Amino acid sequence: MRRILAENGREYLPQYALATLCLVAVAATTAFSAWIMRDIIDEIFYRENYELVPYICGAIVAAFAIRGIASYGQAVILARIGNNLVARYQRRLFDHLMRLGLDFYSSARSGQLAAQISQNVTGIRDMLSITLTSIARDLVSLIGLVAVMVMQDPLLSVIGLLIGPPLVYAVNYLMRRLRRVTRESVEVNSHLFGAMQETVQGIAIVKAFTMEEQLSKKLSELVASAENRANKIARVSERLTPITEMLAGLAIAGVIGYAAYRAASAGQSPGSVFAFITALLLAYDPARRLARVQVNLERSLVNARMIYELLDQEPPQRDAPGAKELVVGAGGIVFRGVCFSYGSDKRVLDDVSFEAEPGGVTAIVGSSGAGKSTLVALVQRFYDVDSGRIEIDGQDIADVTKSSLRARIAYVSQHPYLFEGTIRDNIRYGRPDASDEEIETAARLANADDFIRESAFGYEALVGENGITLSGGQRQRLSIARAIVRNAPILLLDEATSALDNESEARVQDALDTVMKGRTTIVIAHRLSTVVNADKIVVMEEGRVVEQGTHRALIADPAGLYARFHRLQGERSLEIVDDQLLKEKSA
Ligand code: ADP
Repeated sequence: MRRILAENGREYLPQYALATLCLVAVAATTAFSAWIMRDIIDEIFYRENYELVPYICGAIVAAFAIRGIASYGQAVILARIGNNLVARYQRRLFDHLMRLGLDFYSSARSGQLAAQISQNVTGIRDMLSITLTSIARDLVSLIGLVAVMVMQDPLLSVIGLLIGPPLVYAVNYLMRRLRRVTRESVEVNSHLFGAMQETVQGIAIVKAFTMEEQLSKKLSELVASAENRANKIARVSERLTPITEMLAGLAIAGVIGYAAYRAASAGQSPGSVFAFITALLLAYDPARRLARVQVNLERSLVNARMIYELLDQEPPQRDAPGAKELVVGAGGIVFRGVCFSYGSDKRVLDDVSFEAEPGGVTAIVGSSGAGKSTLVALVQRFYDVDSGRIEIDGQDIADVTKSSLRARIAYVSQHPYLFEGTIRDNIRYGRPDASDEEIETAARLANADDFIRESAFGYEALVGENGITLSGGQRQRLSIARAIVRNAPILLLDEATSALDNESEARVQDALDTVMKGRTTIVIAHRLSTVVNADKIVVMEEGRVVEQGTHRALIADPAGLYARFHRLQGERSLEIVDDQLLKEKSA
């Protein structure tokens, strides 16, 4: 809590001051209505001093009016602070999430993460409004009312206040239990929302494999568990109510009993006893709320703690002190003895050395799990190598700024991801300052212009979360257009394995040929034609480079892995490639 206040408190100081003023006004008017009770009883009814009636009635109307306006003021101010705070934490978290490394995301699930953040951020907002409302309004009201009680009757006050110590004890006990249940509840809920989101995203698979029943069962277990936690929270936190009620009943009964005994024996005027009892009854509400504060606060503190656990995760691979901008000339990429593992002991890349010639196409081939994607991830410095180095034009990529490195690289992934927004926006992510003209040229070069123009809204057409309305080939061409717009000297390409229909495939290939032209390209190759046409082929097996050379050189060694690979891929596909090559030549 100290951290939240330290990080945010200062900026809200004027608003807090104003809100506190309003809250104090609310408290003062509440105390006033108890205090005036004595005059009402003693002056009007006991002494029949009727000329005071207009003054007393006027004062009461004024007090309630002030109370109403002040209540409104504090509620609005506190809500605004709370909403602003939510917005600030949402921004902070989003910025932070984008700075975290890929390793964070390989262990976190997106749906769960989003659900956890939304639950926890509201928790922080509640915390500040809870503390302030309770402390300023309830505590001040309570002090005012206790002051009225003491002024009216010190001895009776002592009886009333006897319930304090047992109450404090009960609150402390409940708080400890609540802390654990709340954390469990946030976790279960985020699991639940995460599972729902994943189901929606994979709905086609769900239906295809008739997974509905299994998923329903799994989800229903989560739902039951979330329900159970929510009930437990209610049971634990509401346990305070019977305790406070019983203690309050004892206090009020004690006071009335003793006051009656004194009135009978000493014949006191009823005014001060009435004022006292009014104050006591009025004090009951704020006292009860104050007792709850800690309970509610404990829940919010769990939320805050979880938020800070996320914010405190250090983004990995900060730029080295004095890191320079990467300067790319020809754009040659060299791997020198690169070893890498993902945290565990298993070596994913083992002493990998090769050179991707400037301006040429280097195809990486190898069976699944050989380490091809890892290699491409390392060029972008998504992870740091364990030993060895990767150089671009002679500069170790560990010594240059990550932003300058990534600015010189265009990446086309196997799964083209389209973001919420229009087609134009999606191409522009390649380079934010690209003009509309450049975007359209890129789309033309990527063979995407025709289908974009065919759609009703053209470049302004919205694409859904997964670009639902576009075919696989169209999405790929859009992501190629994005890479063309980026106009970076280095291209990293993860060729799609998923089969496209022939025409679509030919158009995607054509687009890829365009984007590769004049760029140093490293391509994870799945298609024979890519491999055959590459300037160099790097063959990988279990994290090692086992062969490298041109297609012609590698095929010459029939015992080599590449030649075997090639035979496995089948003569047929080779024929198709040769056909295509012939056609291209004649064209
Ligand atoms: P390829 O692209 O050749 O199929 P990858 O580079 O994806 O191979 O994977 C190489 C090895 O690294 C595999 O054994 C895979 O299980 C492992 N691997 C890939 N990504 C991760 C990751 N994020 N965390 C841990 N291990 C990973």
